[in-house]
Amino acid sequence: MSKQVYFFGDGKAEGNAQMRDILGGKGANLAEMTNLGLPVPPGFTISTEVCAQYYDEGAKGMPAGLEEACREAVSRVEQILGRRFGDPAKPLLFSVRSGARVSMPGMMDTVLNLGLNDATVEGLATETDNPRFARDSYRRFIQMFGNVVLGVDGTHYEDALDALKVEKGAATDTDLDAADLDTLIDRYKSITREQCGRDFPQDPWQQLWDAILAVFRSWNNDRAIHYRNMHGYAHDWGTAVNVQSMVFGNMGDDCGTGVAFTRDPSTGEHVFYGEYLINAQGEDVVAGVRTPQPVRKQPGSSGESLEEKMPAVYTELLEIVQKLEAHYRDMLDLEFTIQRGKLWMLQVRSGKRTGAAAVRIAVEMVGEGLIDQREALRRVEPEQLDQLLHPTVDPKASYTVLGKGLPASPGAVCGEIVFTAEEAVARREAGGEPLLVRKETSPEDIAGMEAAVGILTQRGGMTSHAAVVARGMGKSCVSGCGELQLDEEAGTLRIAGKTFQRGDLLTINGTTGEIIEGRVPTIPPRLDDNFRRLMGWADEVRQLRVRTNADNPADSALAREFGAEGIGLCRTEHMFFGEERIAAMREMIVAQDREQRERALTKLLPFQMSDFEGILDAMDGLPVTIRLLDPPLHEFLPHDESEIGRLAGELGVDAAEMHRIVESLSEFNPMLGHRGCRLGITYPEIYAMQADAIVRAACKLKKAGKDPRPEIMIPLVGIDRELELMRSVVQERVDTILAEEGVQLQVLIGTMIEIPRACVTADEIAKKADFFSFGTNDLTQMGFGFSRDDSGSFLPEYVEREILPRDPFQGLDQNGIGKLVEMAVELGRAENAELHLGVCGEHGGDPESVHFFHRAGLDYVSCSPYRVPIAILAAAHAALDDEKPRA
Ligand code: PEP
Ligand code: MG
Repeated sequence: MSKQVYFFGDGKAEGNAQMRDILGGKGANLAEMTNLGLPVPPGFTISTEVCAQYYDEGAKGMPAGLEEACREAVSRVEQILGRRFGDPAKPLLFSVRSGARVSMPGMMDTVLNLGLNDATVEGLATETDNPRFARDSYRRFIQMFGNVVLGVDGTHYEDALDALKVEKGAATDTDLDAADLDTLIDRYKSITREQCGRDFPQDPWQQLWDAILAVFRSWNNDRAIHYRNMHGYAHDWGTAVNVQSMVFGNMGDDCGTGVAFTRDPSTGEHVFYGEYLINAQGEDVVAGVRTPQPVRKQPGSSGESLEEKMPAVYTELLEIVQKLEAHYRDMLDLEFTIQRGKLWMLQVRSGKRTGAAAVRIAVEMVGEGLIDQREALRRVEPEQLDQLLHPTVDPKASYTVLGKGLPASPGAVCGEIVFTAEEAVARREAGGEPLLVRKETSPEDIAGMEAAVGILTQRGGMTSHAAVVARGMGKSCVSGCGELQLDEEAGTLRIAGKTFQRGDLLTINGTTGEIIEGRVPTIPPRLDDNFRRLMGWADEVRQLRVRTNADNPADSALAREFGAEGIGLCRTEHMFFGEERIAAMREMIVAQDREQRERALTKLLPFQMSDFEGILDAMDGLPVTIRLLDPPLHEFLPHDESEIGRLAGELGVDAAEMHRIVESLSEFNPMLGHRGCRLGITYPEIYAMQADAIVRAACKLKKAGKDPRPEIMIPLVGIDRELELMRSVVQERVDTILAEEGVQLQVLIGTMIEIPRACVTADEIAKKADFFSFGTNDLTQMGFGFSRDDSGSFLPEYVEREILPRDPFQGLDQNGIGKLVEMAVELGRAENAELHLGVCGEHGGDPESVHFFHRAGLDYVSCSPYRVPIAILAAAHAALDDEKPRA
C-alpha cells in the first residue's frame, strides 16, 4: 500500500510543492513552506489516493491502515507542540480541510476547532483565561460539525442563536456571556441529537474520523461536481485532507486573520496587497460577513491597516511574502493568522488574477529576471486575454452613479436584476442578460454566477467568494456595496433612495466599483504595452498565422490592431443588407432572365467595389480572402405579407407573381439547399460581378500605390468539377479586368472545405485550388448531421451526459471532424505542394482547437477580431508544447 499520510512540522515535511497530485495544492504547499522554515502550524496531509481508495471501496468507512497512520502523525504533532489531543488540561485542536490538486474555492468542506468537547473546552478556557472565547469556539465547532459532518441544516443552529439573543436581550453575538453560551451549547447538542438521531461525539478521535470521511464525501457534493464539470477537471482525482493544528485569530485584539497577494490581483501592480480582520477566524474574511481592512497602509489611511496596527507582524509578513515569491517565481495568494501577536502561515498557492494582472505580472517578472519569455507566455491562459478586451464605460457618457462597492473583477456590463442563482439561470436560458444581485454569494450560487453577465453583492471584500469566483470566470463583479438594501422576497433593491424591481436594468463597472442606473454606453478596451510585449513574444514562437473574419473596414482595422495578419474570411452577404443595396439585391433575385439579373447586378457592383476597397485598404499588404455569395437567396427576401406586397410594387411585379417567387425560393433545408457555389453554378453572373468588384477595387488601390492582396474563395464545394467551373468564371473576370486596367496583381483562387465529400476528395479539389480554408462550422454540421440552427435543443444534454466532451460547434471534435480535416490536409498537400491551408470556422478562435490546427500543420487560423489575441497566444502555447519540457 502506498503511503497514506504525509507529515509536516518543525521545519521538516515529507512532501513538497511538486507533489500536488497526491497531496493536493494546499498540502503540497504547506509542506513546501514548512521546508522553507516558515512558521507553519504542524499537521499532516492524507493523500488524494486515500480518497480515491475510499470511493473504490464503496464510500463505506476509513480505509484500512489510515487510523493508525493518523494516530502516529497526531503523536508527532503532540511532541512538537507539547500538547495532547483530547487532553483536558492542554488540549490540541485541529482544523480539517479539503484540498484537491487544483483549487476549487469553497466547493468542499472544512471543520475547525476539532478536538473540543465538554472537558477540553475547560482546558482552553483556563489556558486562554477566556471562558467566553472557549465556549464560543465550542459552540461554533458543534454547529460546523453538525452541519458539515452530520448533515444538520445550519438554520436550526442559527435560529437557536437568534432565539437566545431575544431571550437575553442581546443585540449582537458578543453580548452573550459565557453562561449564555453554555445554554447555547446545550441547545446545539439537543438540536444535533434531534436532527440526526446521533449525539454530538465527545471522543476527539471519533470527531477526527468523522470529519475526514466528511471531507472525502464533499469531493462528490453537487457543487464540487458542477465546478469540476465547468473546468473540465477529472472526477477521479479525489481530494487530500489536511489535518493541521489550530491557531486562533479570534482570541482577542492581538489576534487576527487575513488573506494577501504578493501583487495586486486586479491590476498586477507589484505591491503587496491584502485584507485582514482583527479578532476573527479565516472563514470570517472569506465569507465577507465583516468588511476587512487593508494589510498595507493606504493613502489617507484610517489607521486600521495591519501595517499600522501591528508593525512587527507586518514586517515579518512582508519578508515572508518576498521570500515566497522569489521561491515560487509566481504571484501568490496567502492565508495567515496572528495568534497573540505571533504570525502563522496557513496556506500559499498561485494567486488567481484578472487577465490584465496575468499579463502585467508575466511581463514584469521577465523584466525582474524571475522567469523567461517562454515561461511568461505559459503563465497567461489565452482565454484570460478576453478580459483585457472587455468594454469599459464610455467616459463621454453621462450617467447616474447610484453607489459604489469594491472593484472586484473588471469590465462594465449591463444586465437585468435577478436575486437568486435559479433566476439567473432561468433568465439566461430565456435569452436574457441577468445581473445577479446577492447579499453575498456562496458556492451554491455557482451556476447562477456562470449564467449571469455580472455579479453585484452587498457584502464581502475583494477576497470574498463573489470576487474570487468572478475573477476566475472573467466576469465583471462589484462586491461589498454596503449602501445596497435587498429585499429578495419582494424582488426589490434600494440604493441612493431609489427602488429597482427584478428585471430593471443596472450597469456595474467592475473596474471602478460603480453601480450605475440603467444602460450606459461602453467603449472597446485599449491595449497597453505589456499586452503588446507579450503578443510580440508569442509572435516569435508561434508557427500558425492568425487572420480574422471581418466584413467591414472598421472590424478589419480593429483586428489588425489586435495582431491579425490578414482576413481569412470576408463574408460578402452582410454587405447586401444596406438600404439601397437590398433593393438591388432583391431586384437581382426576382429577375426573370439573365439580362434583368445583370442589370440589377450592375447596380450592386459599385457598392461591392467600395466595400472591398475599404477592406483591402484596411488590410494593406496583408492577404484578404473574400468569399463569394454563400447563403440561400430567400434570406434576402421579405417574408410577411405587407412587405412582399410592397416589394412587388417597388419592382413593378404583380403581387401574386411575387408570392410565387418568394415561395419558389423557400426551402425545407436551406442549409443543405441552393446555397454556396450551387448559386454560382446556376447564376454565374453573380460570382462574375463579385470577382469584378474585387479586382477593380484592388486595381484602384494598386494604382494609388497600395499593396492589395485579394484572394477569392468559392464556398461549399463538394465536387472538384464545381470548383473547376467556378474558377473559370472567376479567372476569366480576373484576367479581363487586370488586362483592362493594365495592372499586375496575383489573385489566388481557392475554396472552402466544409462538406465531408470535399475532405474525402481533397486531392481532386486541390488540383484546382490555390488554397483551402476549412469551414468547420458547416463541416461539423454536415459531418455530424447536426443542424447548426436546431441542435441547441439537445446538444446541452449531450454534453451534460458526457456523450460529447464539448459542444462541437465551439470546440472542434478532434476525433471525428478533425480526422476529416487531417485527411484533407494530407490529400491536398500531396497533390499540390503549394496549397495554402487555413481554417475560418468559429473553431479558429478556440484555444483547444487552435492546438489541433497547429498539430494538423495548417498555415493559419482565422477568427473574429476579439478572439485574435486569444488565437495568437494559443498558437504560441501550441508551439511551446512541441518543445522538449525543461529539465
Ligand atoms: C463555416 O462553415 O465554417 C464557415 C466559416 O462559413 P459560414 O459560417 O459562413 O457558413
Ligand atoms: Mg460555411
